[in-house]
Amino acid sequence: MLFTLLYIIIGLLIGYLVGSYVESFFHQYVSDAPTKLYKFYRRYPRIFSAFISTYYSHHIIHHYHTYKSHYTTQFSSDEEEQKLQIKLAKKGSHGQLIIDSAYAVKLGGRGIVKYLVALALLLPLCYLLFNKLIFAGICITVWLPAIMAHWVHPYMHMSKQDVKQNHGSFINWLINTRYMRNVAINHFIHHKYGGVSNYNLVLGGDILRRISRKATAEDFREMKTVGLI
Ligand SMILES: [Zn+2]
Ligand SMILES: [Zn+2]
Repeated sequence: MLFTLLYIIIGLLIGYLVGSYVESFFHQYVSDAPTKLYKFYRRYPRIFSAFISTYYSHHIIHHYHTYKSHYTTQFSSDEEEQKLQIKLAKKGSHGQLIIDSAYAVKLGGRGIVKYLVALALLLPLCYLLFNKLIFAGICITVWLPAIMAHWVHPYMHMSKQDVKQNHGSFINWLINTRYMRNVAINHFIHHKYGGVSNYNLVLGGDILRRISRKATAEDFREMKTVGLI
């Protein structure tokens, strides 16, 4: 019984780390791919169409067409939102999916499937490497990045005051935990410096990959100004 529990706990931890690592890796090389790599994807649109659409919705729309004036304000006016809606409407079904996902602050229908497939990539290897109990534990926590990207990411772009007033006591408690505070700081740094570090919402992978940047005193001052901490 003790070993059963121990194996499952080890599996949960490995699943957490695998998910975090995959999240950090794909966020860096797909969602915020460096320009040269993105141009390479564009040369082979049939092979990399999923990567190209992910880059468009995340890097172009989420990073640069929303939250432009303020980290915790998606649009500074109705007019700004309408302009983006018109632009996205011209993109057909993909544009509509982006609008439906609150402008890529959540995962859209296809986005969830793509993310789950990416997170599942290492599962066959885990199955071969570990026993069934460890593998069962991995299968529980490996999906955390998708949960964070869909349900938690929107709160990372809200002021504490907004969360407290409009989103219920459980969410308010969750967002104020030490872990979520660190996620919020990590994500702020990710956006502030142009999406070149701090890719995780599930913390750990960035540190393992040595791609984590620490917040400075100035960063903390800015986070206070926008009501994030
Ligand atoms: Zn974000
Ligand atoms: Zn990003």
